[in-house]
Amino acid sequence: MSSHASVPTLVPRRPARLLTQNREMRAIGAWNWTLPAWAGRFPDGKTYNTCPSAGICRDVCYARHGTYTWPTVKAKHHANLRFILDDLPGWEEAMSAELGRRKFRGTWVRIHDSGDFLSDPYLLAWLRVIRAQPETNFYAYTKEVARFRALVEPDPPANFLWVYSFGGTQDAKLDIERDRVADVFPDEEAIAAAGWHSQEASDLLAVLGPRLVGIPANRIPHFLKRLGGRTFRSWQAEVDAERRAHGRQRDGPRLVPDDTQPRPSASTGPGQVPAVRRPGRAA
Ligand code: SF4
Repeated sequence: MSSHASVPTLVPRRPARLLTQNREMRAIGAWNWTLPAWAGRFPDGKTYNTCPSAGICRDVCYARHGTYTWPTVKAKHHANLRFILDDLPGWEEAMSAELGRRKFRGTWVRIHDSGDFLSDPYLLAWLRVIRAQPETNFYAYTKEVARFRALVEPDPPANFLWVYSFGGTQDAKLDIERDRVADVFPDEEAIAAAGWHSQEASDLLAVLGPRLVGIPANRIPHFLKRLGGRTFRSWQAEVDAERRAHGRQRDGPRLVPDDTQPRPSASTGPGQVPAVRRPGRAA
């Protein structure tokens, strides 16, 4: 198991429960699996990056702000991540066992309140878990476009829906004429003006509502200032164009977290639960 057994006091303990339910998820009858957002460092000094395709979103990441930074919350997210990094087969077994409980039948599970499908083996493990639980519905936001094109799109599980979210280094691979996509807008008015559809009433609308999904930015003043009236899509396009103009590669994962964020791949507001059993397929 962990190669860090020599420093047991620094290693997060394996979580007793993998799926949780905060107020927003409870309001829509959904459960949640969470990783720490983006790049960071475990207490033993080892670094990680859970969002390898994060772009500008990392500079305004909702999950690196507020309650997400509380030590107990962070420790729980670290423990979740440590589990999949140290013992992916064990995690798969534990997740499948937990999902086998009666209370998850007919419900929804959101994969990643923060974080993303950080590797092929991890995504493939999830696909096996999802297929083994046909009576539970799963959904996710993701910026891992190429990984999904290769591993999910050819044969997606019937009980899994996803939405690609803008603000990542793979934005250029998205086709808004075809893909189900989510973008963060400055406010509800901007979403309506663009002809997109807000998921503010229920996060499930991101996968069950119209295909062009608008997310109103969190009302965090310094994030709104950074966003500067743009959407994540337009901001990322600006950054990509600037890099091309300077002949630079898009940058890879940074490992120097700062203290910022709004809400990109995620979001929700308390709200109604749409009829959710056996939805159609995303994108
Ligand atoms: S916004 Fe989402 S994808 Fe971007 S860094 Fe935060 S958790 Fe990762």
